[in-house]
This record gives sequence, structure tokens and C-alpha cells, in this order.
Amino acid sequence: MGKMARDHGAVNMSQGYPNFETDERLKDLVTKAMKEGYNQYAPLAGIAPLREQIVNKIESLHGHKYDLNKEITVTNGATQALFLAISAFVQPGDEVIVLKPAYDSYEPAIELNGGKPMLVQMKGKDYEVDWNEVKEKITSKTRMIIINTPHNPSGRVFSKEDMQQLENLLRGTNIILLSDEVYEHIIFDGEKHHSASAFSGLAERAVVCASFGKTFHNTGWKMGYCVAPAELMAEIWKVMEVNVFCVHHPSQRAFAEYLKEPKHYLQLGNFYQEKRDRFLELIKDTAFNAIPAGGTYFQLLDYSQITAEPDVDFARRLITEYNLASIPVSVFNKDQKDQKQLRFCFAKTDETLVEAAEILKKVK
Ligand code: PMP
Repeated sequence: MGKMARDHGAVNMSQGYPNFETDERLKDLVTKAMKEGYNQYAPLAGIAPLREQIVNKIESLHGHKYDLNKEITVTNGATQALFLAISAFVQPGDEVIVLKPAYDSYEPAIELNGGKPMLVQMKGKDYEVDWNEVKEKITSKTRMIIINTPHNPSGRVFSKEDMQQLENLLRGTNIILLSDEVYEHIIFDGEKHHSASAFSGLAERAVVCASFGKTFHNTGWKMGYCVAPAELMAEIWKVMEVNVFCVHHPSQRAFAEYLKEPKHYLQLGNFYQEKRDRFLELIKDTAFNAIPAGGTYFQLLDYSQITAEPDVDFARRLITEYNLASIPVSVFNKDQKDQKQLRFCFAKTDETLVEAAEILKKVK
């Protein structure tokens, strides 16, 4: 869709990245680190000042204190953190429960390691998790379960009850939880992000993945991290060592400084809530219907009042006939289930949101 959007010069709300700039101060901090000579390998786990900031951030938000020296790894974006965790723990024949719709890197990574994705579709247009169905999928071969909250593409935020149900379900098992929390700070309407780190029965078995790219508007820098109990992290390091060994040093120096001011991430929810609300207001008179996203920078729009076309065809037609790019949700679903929904990324300038809304008004 991204390529099609570029080929047609379409207004692009397909892929998940901002079309506005990252903070100049962050750019200055990276430049400063380069000028100061931080241009050689960093330690495998990441530089201590950055790990320290990560420890403090998680402790202040979720009340769990990770060990600075044994339980944190700075990674090449969350995607690498996810891949490291899957490679470290999934062996041929292992089963991994994946909640669908799901971010597209999970299943190929599981399969590359010889594992078998066991898919559970989230229910209805609200994307509720049926924890009983998850329970039924657990077998003696289940090695891992992957969750994502706030959730791409649905915008659903897992409740405290969701996390407690998961905690109950995993109690007494050896199942590892891989918790993808890249949208942890993009959460709306006064809701709270319930990190796996905040639940002792989950934290003891969880690899929690985060992304600086999503939080600080610089997805192209590919910086993120994961945290996990020491015995799990020791296994992740074995993969990290032969994979990339360490990640971009100057960026680590910059984030270590930048994270000293929590406002940079604490204000993110309000920042994106304004964008979500503006987008929803702009499209309120269109034939599209929306359940407001609870988190992430994605808004699903239901087009069932417009056409019965499959979502992939309709998304293509929106580009070719109307010059607006989105992502059909079926591509993330189990068995490509089509609920007549398209995903729009609203991490865009106001001008882009207005332009997109003007187009959507014409689609009848
Ligand atoms: N997980 C989810 C759910 C995502 O949406 C994305 C980015 N699209 C990632 C992980 C990847 O994050 P990063 O860019 O830090 O690798």
C-alpha cells in the first residue's frame, strides 16, 4: 500500500509513521554525541546511562524495578527486540499463541525458528480477547504467547482485567510472555497503559518490548529496547551477541539525556488524542463509521455502509480513484477475515488530516 501510495502520489495514511519532524533537541543531542566522539561500539546491553533512564521510567510508571545490569537491552527498534526474544526461546516444534489481528513480524519470526503460530482471532469490531479460547489453545508444546497493547491495528487497549486473566491463565506454566508495548505512551481518554511489567505473575515471565521511534517521532532511527528477568535476558544476549552485538551509540547518548525529562513521553497521549479527535471530527459527516481508538496512532474506519467490496479491493480503489492510502485490516487477521474496515494512521500533520477528510467526504 505504501508503494502504491507513492506511485499514485496519494495522501498517505497507510504505514505507521509520522509525517512531521522529531524534536530538534534530539537531533542536536545525537550530533553532539557524534562530535564528542561516541562513535565506536557500545556495550552489548546498551550504555549504562540509558539503561538507568529506562529503569527509572518503568519503575515510576509501573512500580517494577528492573536490574540495571542484567535485565535491559537496547535494541534496533522493537522489531529486533521481538526477533531476539522469539529466536532465543522458540525451538522447532514449539507452539506460540498469537492474537490476531497482529503486527506482521511475529509469525514469520516464529516460523523461521521452526515454531508454529497458533492463531486466536480477537472478537468482533471491538477486538475483545476471548481468554477462554486462548486457554483452549494452550498445550504441552506452548512455549510463548505474544500480546500487543495498545493494539495495532485495532487501537484497543488491554484492560487491567485482561492482564489479570492472562496472569491467571499462565500461572503454573513455563510459558514466556512476549509483550509488545510500542504504543505504551499513546493512550487516550484518561485510560492507563497496563504493562506486563506491572503484574508480578506476568513480569516474572515477560519480555517487554518498547520503541523510541514510536514515542519520539523518529521511526527511521530504529531504536528501542526490551526488559526481562535476568535468566531470560541472559538467553536473549546470546542471540544479540551474534546478531548485531550492539546498536547505534550516538543515539543511545541522546536518548539517555532526553529521557531525563519525562514530559517528552508523558505528553504524548494528549498530543495524539488531539490528532485522533481532529480526524474524527473532520470525518463525522462522511459515510465511514468509527469506534474511537483507545490508543496507538491508528483509527479504524468501517465502510460497510458504502460498499460490500472486500477491504483489499476497496483500499486499492481508494488509492487509484481517490488518491488516499490506508491499510485493509484483513491482512492482519486470522484467515484474512474481512470486517469491512480500513486502518488509517493519524500521525500526520493537520494539513494531511484535512486533505484526507476532504477525500473521505467524497466517497459515498
Ligand atoms: N510492534 C508493533 C505493534 C508495531 O506497530 C511496530 C511498528 N509498526 C513495531 C512493533 C516495530 O517497532 P520499531 O519501529 O521500533 O521496530
